[in-house]
Amino acid sequence: MADTDEPMVVDGGSGDGGEWEGRWNHISTFLERPGPFTHPDFEPSTESLQFLLDTCKILVIGAGGLGCELLKDLALSGFRHIHVVDMDTIDVSNLNRQFLFRLKDVGRPKADIAADFINGRIPGCNVVPHFKKIQDFDESFYRQFHIIVCGLDSIIARRWMNGMLLSLLVYEDGVLDPSSIIPLIDGGTEGFKGNARVIFPGMTACIDCTLELYPPQINFPMCTIASMPRLPEHCVEYVRMLLWPKEKPFGDGVGLDADDPEHIQWVYQKSQERAAEFSITGVTYRLTQGVVKRIIPAVASTNAVIAAACATEVFKIASSAYIPLNNYMVFNDVDGLYTYTFEAERKENCSSCSQVPQDLHFSPSAKLQEVLDYLTENASLQMKSPAITATLEGKNKTLYLQTVASIEQRTRPNLSKSLKELGLLDGQELAVADVTTPQTVLFKLSFTS
Ligand SMILES: [Zn+2]
Repeated sequence: MADTDEPMVVDGGSGDGGEWEGRWNHISTFLERPGPFTHPDFEPSTESLQFLLDTCKILVIGAGGLGCELLKDLALSGFRHIHVVDMDTIDVSNLNRQFLFRLKDVGRPKADIAADFINGRIPGCNVVPHFKKIQDFDESFYRQFHIIVCGLDSIIARRWMNGMLLSLLVYEDGVLDPSSIIPLIDGGTEGFKGNARVIFPGMTACIDCTLELYPPQINFPMCTIASMPRLPEHCVEYVRMLLWPKEKPFGDGVGLDADDPEHIQWVYQKSQERAAEFSITGVTYRLTQGVVKRIIPAVASTNAVIAAACATEVFKIASSAYIPLNNYMVFNDVDGLYTYTFEAERKENCSSCSQVPQDLHFSPSAKLQEVLDYLTENASLQMKSPAITATLEGKNKTLYLQTVASIEQRTRPNLSKSLKELGLLDGQELAVADVTTPQTVLFKLSFTS
């Protein structure tokens, strides 16, 4: 940086309306000449750049750690029509890595502040913010975009987005209409690990095709916590879930506050006692805090790498000048640096993208509870709060629904009834709705004897 009061000169002086001579030279280099990595059908031209600048419309989901990086990378790569959706407000703990935000922004919507920052800093760029949930928008909103990039920390939201893009696909006589495909670029990070993937819905592996790759949620069975702890985490969970409500160390009605060091200290000491009882080692203050707070560590450099990889894929697809990632890249810099790309394969009978009816094999004497457990526990379904309906004697009947308390109460007795008692028949269709998808998933009941 020059240490004078002179304004900084960018690329040889500013022109009018935010354009200046040579502004996009770094992008043109990739689009206006052939190279060893260009697409076989690539024809160098100035049209690709004009398309990026004038026409191409990108949706960024999430304005957090990945989202801030993505918006910056895309805007500097020439994309000017960008929408961003985020339902969160800025917390002070975001500021170490979500670099579009300042202390004065704490409490305000991430999407709004991120958009303002980019629009103010990068001339000609128009980021449109949406301080909303992805579920607040319908098909017509998503259909307007050329490419969608996800920088999310939630698997449910990712699966929902995936389901939404699959629902936009148009099949004619079983043949997919390619113009109905909106590519999905998905980035994810956890600590020093990350991944970037390119999904062409209906053509390549979708999020649900590879659901088994996601680590299961870290929830320990209560019986383990209560009577057979094996890990230091089990001991902390025991204190948090069972001992705290029983001993009320800070008085009646005082909940455990993960940000109160005295509370954590108490949990830490009791966890150590519990651990000693079962000869378990490894309970530390830090671990205690991590378990209580359910911390997923966020590392700025990992976010930067993954967002850059995702933005590069957006650029490759939008310009058609380069062959996209095929299709799953993992990145790990816990110890040195490791990266690897593989082709995640479509799952033939994927419940989301395969068009293959999903069979449920149960005996007529199986309880509805068993079906519910299957839907939530099966590694390739992993539903969260499935609502099951069936058409019985020409009427739609809700067999179980837990998201509305009154209906849950009314339908709960069905869980202990057998499928036969509920009047379900072999070959019966069951429609299942869940937060992991915007669409109802149809299952076919297949009775086993
Ligand atoms: Zn799939």
